[in-house]
Amino acid sequence: MVRRSGVVSRIVGSFRRRRKRWESLCNRCGLCCYERVRKNGRLVIRFGSPCQFLDTETHLCTVYECRFQVCPECRKVTIFHALFSRYLPDSCGYVQEYRKRPFRRPTDEPQNSR
Ligand code: SF4
Ligand code: SF4
Repeated sequence: MVRRSGVVSRIVGSFRRRRKRWESLCNRCGLCCYERVRKNGRLVIRFGSPCQFLDTETHLCTVYECRFQVCPECRKVTIFHALFSRYLPDSCGYVQEYRKRPFRRPTDEPQNSR
């Protein structure tokens, strides 16, 4: 019994460490919390259209722990997104880690051009 709980706690510990490492890749820039479009092959971030739950001063989510329950548009970033999503900026920590792309500043779009 003691042995089994040791195994369980090792598995839980390993899971927690992996999750912590995954979350640590996010640089908390908040750029994936704005409306984004592709134009002429480039990612355009509409800084005038943040998610209603984004604190635009701190770039942090105000409902982080329950974000998937309260925000239907919110998507978990996965390895698939990190590798292939065209809607994550090159500066995203996951893109940097998995695609090793050169850093480019995301493009802003004037609000009145929508
Ligand atoms: S709910 Fe999702 S999209 Fe909205 S601010 Fe939070 S993490 Fe970003
Ligand atoms: S764009 Fe990437 S690094 Fe920035 S908040 Fe979103 S997931 Fe994190």
